[in-house]
Amino acid sequence: MSSGDKLFGRLLNRPSSAPSDSVDSPSALSVGLQLYLDDGGHVNHLTGPLRHLLAQQQSGNRTPHLLAYLLPHSILAVEGKPADWQGQLLDLDFFSLAGPPLHLRGWVQPQGDGWLLQLLDIGDLLAERRLTRSREQSQLLAAQVRDQLRLCGLARLTPVLGEQLERLSQRFSIPCLAVALLDEHEQAWLIHQHYAAHDAPELWHNGQSLGTGLDSLNGAAPQRLLANEQPRLTGVFGPSEGFAVPYRDAQGVAAWLLCGCYPVQQHAADLSEHDWLQLAAAVAAPLLERLREHRHHLQLERLETLQALLGSGWWEVLGDSAEVLLAPRLAENLGLDRARLPLTDWFDRVHPADREELRGRLQALQDEGQPLELCVRLQPAGHSPLPPWYRLQGQSLGIGAERRLVGFMLDISDIKEQQQQAAAAHARLDNLIARSPAVIYVQRYDEGALQPVFFSASLQSLLGWSLADCVDDGLVRHVHPQDQALYFERSRQLLREGSVSTRYRVLDAQGNAHWMLDEARLLRDDLGLPVEAVGLWLDVTEATLAAERVRASEERYRILVEDSPAMICRYRPDLTLTFGNRPLANYLECTPEQLPGVNLGGWMSEEQLEAFVQRLAQLTPEQPVSTAEINLRLPGREHAWWIWSDRGVFDEHGRLLEVQAVGRDNTEVRRSQQQLTQSAKMATLGEMATGLAHEINQPLNVMRMAIVNVLKRLGNGDVQVDYLTDKLNRIDAQVQRAARVVDHMRVFGRRSEIEQHPFDPLKAIEGTLSLLAEGLRGKGVELRIREATFQLQVRGYVDQLEQVLINLMVNARDALLSKREADRDFQPWISVYAEHDEHVVRLWVEDNGGGIDPRLLERIFEPFFTTKPVGIGTGLGLSVSYGIVENMGGRLSVRNGDEGARFCIELPIAEDDQITSVARPD
Ligand code: ADP
Repeated sequence: MSSGDKLFGRLLNRPSSAPSDSVDSPSALSVGLQLYLDDGGHVNHLTGPLRHLLAQQQSGNRTPHLLAYLLPHSILAVEGKPADWQGQLLDLDFFSLAGPPLHLRGWVQPQGDGWLLQLLDIGDLLAERRLTRSREQSQLLAAQVRDQLRLCGLARLTPVLGEQLERLSQRFSIPCLAVALLDEHEQAWLIHQHYAAHDAPELWHNGQSLGTGLDSLNGAAPQRLLANEQPRLTGVFGPSEGFAVPYRDAQGVAAWLLCGCYPVQQHAADLSEHDWLQLAAAVAAPLLERLREHRHHLQLERLETLQALLGSGWWEVLGDSAEVLLAPRLAENLGLDRARLPLTDWFDRVHPADREELRGRLQALQDEGQPLELCVRLQPAGHSPLPPWYRLQGQSLGIGAERRLVGFMLDISDIKEQQQQAAAAHARLDNLIARSPAVIYVQRYDEGALQPVFFSASLQSLLGWSLADCVDDGLVRHVHPQDQALYFERSRQLLREGSVSTRYRVLDAQGNAHWMLDEARLLRDDLGLPVEAVGLWLDVTEATLAAERVRASEERYRILVEDSPAMICRYRPDLTLTFGNRPLANYLECTPEQLPGVNLGGWMSEEQLEAFVQRLAQLTPEQPVSTAEINLRLPGREHAWWIWSDRGVFDEHGRLLEVQAVGRDNTEVRRSQQQLTQSAKMATLGEMATGLAHEINQPLNVMRMAIVNVLKRLGNGDVQVDYLTDKLNRIDAQVQRAARVVDHMRVFGRRSEIEQHPFDPLKAIEGTLSLLAEGLRGKGVELRIREATFQLQVRGYVDQLEQVLINLMVNARDALLSKREADRDFQPWISVYAEHDEHVVRLWVEDNGGGIDPRLLERIFEPFFTTKPVGIGTGLGLSVSYGIVENMGGRLSVRNGDEGARFCIELPIAEDDQITSVARPD
């Protein structure tokens, strides 16, 4: 049996057959091999037990030479003859019948006439030495592998492991080599990393799961695996022979070193079981350690990140030293410059308000192991006025002397702040609900019914009840009997539509009815099923009664408005009617229903409309009312005059929203006024007839004189063309003068225009003088006319202003003439002049007739007031004049001057834009 067999006998748990210590006792001839040689080195004779193993190269030779038994390299050791070899130790390898050569050591000594070569088997010795050497080498390799794996950087672990596997593979000629580790659940085996020689089959790949097959192997020793013996492992090693070496740690087998396609006996006969275990340990132990280190590192990193993110960190109270150890990041967050500090320093960081409690709870943890759970404030740090909040949790680990107090601190300032805000908001809401004048209620949905479960405190103050009075149908009993149907309908609608707004009467504790506005909303769960109704009751008794009163009063006013003889309407600033009563509709020949939408401006001339809009624009919240006489062209009528009163309605910004107007028809009055003016004019004309006769007579006289003179010359035959021409021109001038007077009379006698127009008041003076001047002069009245140079405009009617001037001058003339009757030497005069300031123009008519009796001054403008004899005075002149001037927006006044009466016609000057915006009469 070879030494290899002995070794693998042990590896395969077969008892070794024989110890080889026979080498130490080579004395007897019965051991070893004795060769009897002749002088030439030929073997004459062989003895000793080993002789049976010898194989001879050339058989058949009776005395073969020693060399015929030796392996080639040993032939060199025995060159020459046996006599040469004397005194030397000869190590010779013989061909053996058993296969491997026989290693023998011996020496020659003379024996008779020949030589005895005495040899002993040193095969074991050599094998032992080789074994030791290869064991040393494998230990060295193991140490190197271990160091490489232990010392490389974590990031280089994979390539370094690969290199080491390659190294082992090459050293021991292992075609496929892999490390298998348990997966993360420690259940199945995984190929952690493998190496395959370039000509080896790809037996494995990294990360490949091997299942639990390896567990069936004896984890105490390396296992040689033959596919036919271990069918469970053919999946791991394939059909060829494999070899699996376990690595055990405190928990059991922690790794396998797998050698695939590896007949171990052939390639590593020298390695013992122990060597293999050492090699496996050299790879697996540092690898596992590094992996654990890596995992630990990752875990630490994760923990660090988590702590940093959460603003948390662990703490541990070191029991013996009364010190606390904090996670470095936590210490930093707490503003501490050390991670290990006395407990008191730690407590000092806690707000005084929470310090004692923490101390107590920590004591309880220490003494009784009571878990610690507490929220504490810290001392405000930096410039923040708010103390940060931390949640502190802790527990005790271990028992007796080993006991440790550990826990963590978590920054919950955010949560606390939110909590506080929520609490404050909640408190505000509660307060709001409690103080709300409305009753806020919650009704729970219960099988189709709504049961009150909450009422705000205002229920008590408003109705005098509590929630208890309202449960179990109590609420329905408090609803006014006449409104109970309404209440039930409200509940049905609420359930049907999800919300409701209604009002009904509820009786209070004294039995008084309150009108309650009930606004409710139904809340549903995720499935859409009703959960509860939330609503509020608002006491609207006042408002409801007030609305009732308003409605009643509105009705009264409506009747009043409808039945009023006055025209009443409302219209928007753009003059569109929104309402008009029957009288207005009658005027406009339609029904009241047709009025809304009609535009008032449609019945006004452009000028009227302009004036109307301008008047509206002057309405302000302070002066919302304006009255004017407006002139309309109504359907089927000539003209209508209305006295029209507008009242503006404004919003809070002072914008005009609407106008309410009342009107009364003034057409009749207007018409009679016009007739009056007209008759007054006619009267004036009649009055002036004498003067006018004179006015016309005068040119007639001049013409007659001219004609008489011409005829006289013609009779004499003494007619020159120049003379004739001169006379005819004079006649023509007189004809023109008469025509002017007649023309003016015609104009004056006409009815006044409907519309007022701007005109030059000086034109009225001119017109008046053209009618009166000659007549007055004829009566010996001096006219003192002061020519005015300015040019401006007033609004009204030029003929009517003329009439006023005529009235004043005729009155002056009467006063003057009656005075002269008494005093022949009296020199009568009438002065007429105009002046103006920024806003008004004044026309003065003054005389020296002695003035008016002061007692009568106030009465002279009354109609029919006259001091003249019956049949002469009408008493209308001044009254009509007063009306005319007032109608033009002016004022007629009188006072006594030094010598007589001074009348003043004051008229507003028309603004430029008013003039230009209105078409002037030709
Ligand atoms: P009548 O001229 O027909 O009397 P008026 O209304 O024109 O009517 O005048 C009323 C009265 O006022 C006159 O009767 C006269 O007494 C007085 N009166 C008017 N003008 C003058 C005047 N210039 N001087 C004195 N009295 C005057």
